[in-house]
Amino acid sequence: MEDDGSRSGAAGRAAAIVGAGPAGLYALAALVKSERFDRIDVFEAAPAPYGLVRYGVAPDHPKTRNISRVLARGFEHTRVRFLGNVSVGRDVTVDELRAGYDVVVVSTGMLGDRRLGIPGEELPGSYGASELVAWYTGHPQARPVELPAGLTSATVIGAGNVALDIARILAKDAATLRTTSMPRHVVDALAASTVTDVHLVARRGPAQAKFTSPELHELGALEGVDLVVDPADLVLGPADEEAVAQDRHAKVTVDVCREWSERPATGAARRIHLHYWRKPVRILGETAVTGIELASNRGDAPALTLPTQLVVRAIGYHGTPIPGLPFDDRSGTVPSRDGRVLTGGEVTAGVYVTGWLRRGPTGVIATNRGDANEVAESVLADLDALPGRAGEPDTVDKLLAERDVRVVTWADWLRLEAHEKAAGDAAGGDPIVVHDLVAALEVIDAAG
Ligand SMILES: Cc1cc2nc3c(=O)[nH]c(=O)nc-3n(C[C@H](O)[C@H](O)[C@H](O)COP(=O)(O)OP(=O)(O)OC[C@H]3O[C@@H](n4cnc5c(N)ncnc54)[C@H](O)[C@@H]3O)c2cc1C
Repeated sequence: MEDDGSRSGAAGRAAAIVGAGPAGLYALAALVKSERFDRIDVFEAAPAPYGLVRYGVAPDHPKTRNISRVLARGFEHTRVRFLGNVSVGRDVTVDELRAGYDVVVVSTGMLGDRRLGIPGEELPGSYGASELVAWYTGHPQARPVELPAGLTSATVIGAGNVALDIARILAKDAATLRTTSMPRHVVDALAASTVTDVHLVARRGPAQAKFTSPELHELGALEGVDLVVDPADLVLGPADEEAVAQDRHAKVTVDVCREWSERPATGAARRIHLHYWRKPVRILGETAVTGIELASNRGDAPALTLPTQLVVRAIGYHGTPIPGLPFDDRSGTVPSRDGRVLTGGEVTAGVYVTGWLRRGPTGVIATNRGDANEVAESVLADLDALPGRAGEPDTVDKLLAERDVRVVTWADWLRLEAHEKAAGDAAGGDPIVVHDLVAALEVIDAAG
């Protein structure tokens, strides 16, 4: 539905949303629906919207990535603008936004990784999941990943779906990735990889793993890959039995792992090994990763040393502070009550937080809808009593222009999207992500 901008009921209020991931865009939908705002501007650091839906969800999961079509709907309204390629805290401050808008909703998610805190974590060949994921999804700010020459063994630490995604992408026949959104240089790097063994290391047992069932079944169905599980890891203690009785996912994980442990090896070229009850204590190597030492977390099983050239820790994302906002280092979130940002325990009038930055890196995409709706309710409940803005949104536009910030508009994004789709069509697959910012801006300029 196209909004003609002439509705009554909008009382000249303006809102800024910071971060165009699912949380920000669900908040946008709720605020648009309220008809209480004349203008809603969505600021986004990347040149493209959708946050982790574009730069997180695995390229070989196109159906999940398609949720972007729903998230895009907020931009159909003429009162809504997209200001991409604008990093809040760098290009414009939170205080400048507060001066220009009555309401600021921050939904910048979590960009960093939790660390293991073990020796060797800094060695070349050791990455956080966010780095590897940003690389294979084509995030413009991704640190380049070089798969080590002679890579035969990769180790992924973690027992959640992000760890599964990474293990699957590393083990998978790269030919099947050629029809995905993955940038071609990444597909080429994966195709050239000589990896034969991918180790998935979990701190606890299968009954405590956070894998979801479809992703687990998908791993077991990979062509050309054998699954290796030690039956000793699947012996359940009383706490495990209880978890299995209470949680369907826990039961599925245990059952699936049992089935894998009983499968005869087919002699496939690649293997994924699941190691439960193992705690990384040291990443080995002088100038690059050569191995990893894993202590036992159960019983008195001896330590295990795996030769490996690539270690990826997928033990949870962690937020990065936005200058001008309070931040809880421990949880990596912005302190809040019902979405209202708390500074020193006091509500900061007009500033809200939603999504991962509010509640931590948990839940699926749809979890952010409930989260954003709750926060929008707080916004709407407060709106009449808010002090109101000192200036106008246009002052923020002027600041960005003065600072030579190249703003990517919604029309610009649609041009980039059309280009990506054309490239995908030509390759007989999904739209191919343009991973380089300069190239993305060139595409936009050439189309404009
Ligand atoms: C690797 C991975 C795979 C996943 N796969 C799935 C899946 O298959 N299915 C599923 O349901 N869920 C999946 N999830 C979870 C899902 O992606 C999250 O629940 C969701 O994206 C969180 O939404 P968010 O809006 O809080 O954060 P994000 O999606 O991270 O969005 C935050 C946005 O803010 C922007 N931003 C950050 N800093 C600034 C700044 N300073 N200024 C302006 N903008 C900024 C970012 O660029 C980003 O666009 C996955 C998560 C990860 C990490």
